[in-house]
Amino acid sequence: MKVGVASLGLVPVHLEAVESPSEVGIEADAATFAAPVHIAVKLTRMQEDVLAQGTARTVARMQCSRCLEDVDLSLHGRFDALYMPKTREPEANRRRDRDDQRINYYSEFTIDLSADIAESLVLELPLRPLCSPTCAGLCPSCGANRNTERCSCPAVKPDDPFAALRDLVPPDDSGPSEG
Ligand SMILES: [Zn+2]
Ligand SMILES: [Zn+2]
Repeated sequence: MKVGVASLGLVPVHLEAVESPSEVGIEADAATFAAPVHIAVKLTRMQEDVLAQGTARTVARMQCSRCLEDVDLSLHGRFDALYMPKTREPEANRRRDRDDQRINYYSEFTIDLSADIAESLVLELPLRPLCSPTCAGLCPSCGANRNTERCSCPAVKPDDPFAALRDLVPPDDSGPSEG
């Protein structure tokens, strides 16, 4: 999303836009983006600087970490960034030491919000996406999707920390009996 600085006056401006994921440049290793990106931003101009505060939302397609099915997740990002003219970068670098505000630079009187929008959304991606909080996952023995099919494998207690180990060791009928 690009905005001409000259179009911004003394009064904060509210803008809304819908852009494609490729226009915003949103990318992530574990997700694909096909849905439009909805952007709402408040732009406050302070002489040459522009403060951009806004929200972005879209839908990411990821793989459920338990059952490996595709899952569409709504993302709601939030960004807050200051844009300064590129010519003032050295001054801003000195200031950055005592200021947490994120600073971007613009040239040719145009600010480009795309990177901040994309980052705000990528930060919302879950590390372990789930198709549902109650996803039953795959059967560790036969790989059946236990959300949709029943297999005849023996049940494994989900809270048993040794369950995974037991799956790796074949049952030994000749050992001492535990009763
Ligand atoms: Zn799942
Ligand atoms: Zn099974």
